[in-house]
Amino acid sequence: LPAVKIKDVTKIYKNQKEEEAALKSVYLEIWPGEFVTVQGPSGAGKTTLLNIIAGFERPTRGEVEVFGINVSSLKGKKLADFRYSYIGFVFQQFHLIPSLTVIENVIIPVLPRRTEFNKYEKARLLLKEVGLLSKENSLPGELSGGEQQRVAIARALISNPRIILADEPTGNLDTSTGEKIIEILKFINREYKTTIIIVTHNEEIAKKSPTKVFMKDGRILEVLRNA
Ligand code: ADP
Ligand code: ADP
Repeated sequence: LPAVKIKDVTKIYKNQKEEEAALKSVYLEIWPGEFVTVQGPSGAGKTTLLNIIAGFERPTRGEVEVFGINVSSLKGKKLADFRYSYIGFVFQQFHLIPSLTVIENVIIPVLPRRTEFNKYEKARLLLKEVGLLSKENSLPGELSGGEQQRVAIARALISNPRIILADEPTGNLDTSTGEKIIEILKFINREYKTTIIIVTHNEEIAKKSPTKVFMKDGRILEVLRNA
């Protein structure tokens, strides 16, 4: 069963004409445990592709399945539950809540939920894995950009999602800090077999990726998998 199966997906935003569609009859299959980068010029449809997998946007036509679940058929609580169980999202701008401590930020997604694990213990384990246990009581504003992104990764992982979607996670970071973030995502991929899909403009990062998706003008030009 594929982690992601995108079948003939077209996405036309309200203000777009058919020929300007953000996605044009896209097909893509990603397997469980794959580590994928998505590259392409601005406007290629990369963010739209991630948002459609996460169920933030609905395809105009076509189907999106995540581990066999038809994402576009879900709404309300079912969509929220799907996202909670399957999807962790990491943004370019971190999106931490500035008034909450590091550990409180990590716990946010599980706060309204019953979990079979202890929330604080799990948050501390994840903070340890991203190398930030000593900062658990700091505020985001006291951290560097790279540290804030590591908190955001721990937050994305707290619900044990099957897939991490990262939209330019290193876009606001210098090269070596960005590399550290990618190393952490690779560790998560190995350790938990989490499927990872990263949108990136960084050629160095993409070069080392086992699976590379190239997009342009709403189409997938090529998918390269290392033999
Ligand atoms: P990328 O991430 O590759 O830069 P996007 O998916 O953000 O590409 O955008 C693809 C195309 O869709 C662009 O032409 C963009 O302007 C348009 N677009 C993206 N999001 C929206 C939106 N919410 N409403 C209208 N048009 C959008
Ligand atoms: P990026 O290229 O880094 O993804 P953008 O500046 O293209 O960022 O987009 C930022 C946000 O604005 C995204 O949520 C995207 O969906 C939305 N957006 C992009 N293009 C348009 C557009 N033409 N109309 C409305 N919203 C858009």
